[in-house]
Amino acid sequence: MTQPHTAICDRFSKPRPQASNPVIERLDADDATLAKHLPGADLPALLMSVAHLTGDFDVLRPEWRPTVQISGVARIEVESHEAAAIRAECLRRLAAFRDANTPVVPRPTHDQIARMAEWLVGPVSEHYVPLIAEELIATGADPREPTWTKDMLDAGRDFHVAIIGAGESGLAAAFRLKQAGIPFTIYEKNSELGGTWLENDYPGCRVDINSFYYSYAFARRTWKDYYSTAADVRAYLKSVAIEAGIYEHIRFNTQVERASWDEDAGLWQLELAHDGGREAAHGHMTVFAVGQLNRPLLPDISGRDTFRGPAFHSAEWDHSIDFTGKRVAVIGTGASAVQFIKELAREDCDLTIFARTTNWLLPTPDLTDPVSESTAWLLEHVPNYALWYRAALVIVQAVGFLDDIAVDPAYPPTEKAVSARNDALRAAITAWMEPQFADRPDLRDVIIPDSPVGAKRIIRDNGDWIATLKRDNVTMLRNPIEVITETGIRTADGTEREFDVIIYGTGFRASEFLMPVGVTGRNGADLHARWQDDARAYIGATIPDFPNLFCMYGPNTNLVVYGSIIMFSELTANYIVDAARTLLEGGYKALDVRRDVYDSFNERVDERNRNLTFGFSSVNSWYKNSRGRVTQNYPFHAYDFWRRTHELLATDYEFTP
Ligand code: NAP
Repeated sequence: MTQPHTAICDRFSKPRPQASNPVIERLDADDATLAKHLPGADLPALLMSVAHLTGDFDVLRPEWRPTVQISGVARIEVESHEAAAIRAECLRRLAAFRDANTPVVPRPTHDQIARMAEWLVGPVSEHYVPLIAEELIATGADPREPTWTKDMLDAGRDFHVAIIGAGESGLAAAFRLKQAGIPFTIYEKNSELGGTWLENDYPGCRVDINSFYYSYAFARRTWKDYYSTAADVRAYLKSVAIEAGIYEHIRFNTQVERASWDEDAGLWQLELAHDGGREAAHGHMTVFAVGQLNRPLLPDISGRDTFRGPAFHSAEWDHSIDFTGKRVAVIGTGASAVQFIKELAREDCDLTIFARTTNWLLPTPDLTDPVSESTAWLLEHVPNYALWYRAALVIVQAVGFLDDIAVDPAYPPTEKAVSARNDALRAAITAWMEPQFADRPDLRDVIIPDSPVGAKRIIRDNGDWIATLKRDNVTMLRNPIEVITETGIRTADGTEREFDVIIYGTGFRASEFLMPVGVTGRNGADLHARWQDDARAYIGATIPDFPNLFCMYGPNTNLVVYGSIIMFSELTANYIVDAARTLLEGGYKALDVRRDVYDSFNERVDERNRNLTFGFSSVNSWYKNSRGRVTQNYPFHAYDFWRRTHELLATDYEFTP
């Protein structure tokens, strides 16, 4: 029998990690300081904070009700004198709260959350309230913290969890396992944590979900930018891992090459490659937290290997190249390419972009803005403001715009729009884009996508993209590439262009889940042979015949039109920890999802996906696998994912005593 890394798991004598959210217990600022910073306040967040602190919900007046912007934020659209009146009212109430020395109420009640959400986004399904409540981790109260520990359930049982991958999802699982006192080891192939945020360090790489939401609910921060750079995300993940005592459980430079279920022992045997040698380890549960977006996809274009100049993928950026005076070809116009092209175009180089299909843009004016001094001050000095600042994002974006991408068969759906709502969204985005290229009508065909909104990943932009395409040193072509030559690229129209550098912004092998790890389950079942590039799982997490194996960010868990993947990772982590509880409490060796449960879930996923833009449209996207089935996206509402992952239903599984 192999051993888990006992030196690592013995360190569990430390206290369980707690939410490291800053605690602001009183309001100390004088009126002048408040008045100085309130003009920088996010008005919905400010009003919700005041309502929460004072208990006076009448401040959430109907006439101050926000409207949800396409970018996924709520704004109160009033004249400036009315905005000043809102701030004055808030100042008056905050000052009264301060002067009364009233203790801060840390957690809102469910009723209060429901009222806030209704005011913010209109009638919201009450199903969202428990999800939102969990996301609002306030002083000393973390609703997702397990209420039990391993010692309480089965202190003597040898039970160790192997987590593969130290990216955001692996860390989320580790945090909750550690709270539950369950020993674990994280195996990480790289020499540092961060996963895709470590590997992608191309110029301009940053998140495209607001950082105050693209972060753990249990580890809020005051970010430098609203949409943080990859470097800041890396630093954040590392700080969380260190603070929570997770970092020391990571075995770096360790690639898990094979995982095999050992029926007799009731555990996964792992074959590791480490420091040029091979090792063995095991886990009674194994969590694959290997991501979807970190194995570069190089295009299958003939002649690709013949090009004599430097050529590299966006996730393997060659920082040694000086682009000055170079003729640079970029293949691809997805989220990564748009980010690095904007940066590269500012260099003194000649840039030619080869676009096959293009993506809709999501107007986001503050995409590269630093967090203002006043916002930072309010987050750090006004009790509960940070809570509601994040909550406003969570509420708006978790509700999302799934309904805007649903196919209406009666519309009838086309490659232009799949419903009246979808068409309205298209019109709104087009109205924002068109004036930007009014002086360059020739760009229309390369800028306006030929697919309905939501069929491909929508790319956040602050106006820089079209400005970049209008630069003298930038050309964007839709001509299909025929061949890559020793010196350049020839397109199907016979034109050959010479280049010094080729950059592939061609995305990732997203649908090849869990690769390149070989996985053998019960009775020799081979996972990749079973899937055959058509991966499925139950709630993205479990697969029949692969007992005690869990995926994070697994098949059909990608969020397209709502929420932050970190939220989904936290929810999956809850599910995994609840699975551990079930095994420990019931004295079971293994749990294995029932095939009928798995099949019927996947049928519903497929049916729903076919009726959303990305399943309906024939356009290329990384959401689909080689067979054209949508393997990436979660097609239901975020609250549905919360409901399914909130606890593991014993009736969904078969148990081995
Ligand atoms: P992507 O969205 O898959 O884009 C790949 C691009 O390469 C597409 O334009 C694609 O064209 C093109 N392409 C692929 N093969 C080609 C070929 N053989 N010939 C010509 N063109 C080809 O990949 P990505 O831009 O790396 O983004 C992937 C995902 O990563 C994003 O959607 C997003 O979820 C995530 N991401 C997030 C951020 C962030 O800010 N958080 C940043 C970057 C990426 P077609 O569209 O026609 O296939």
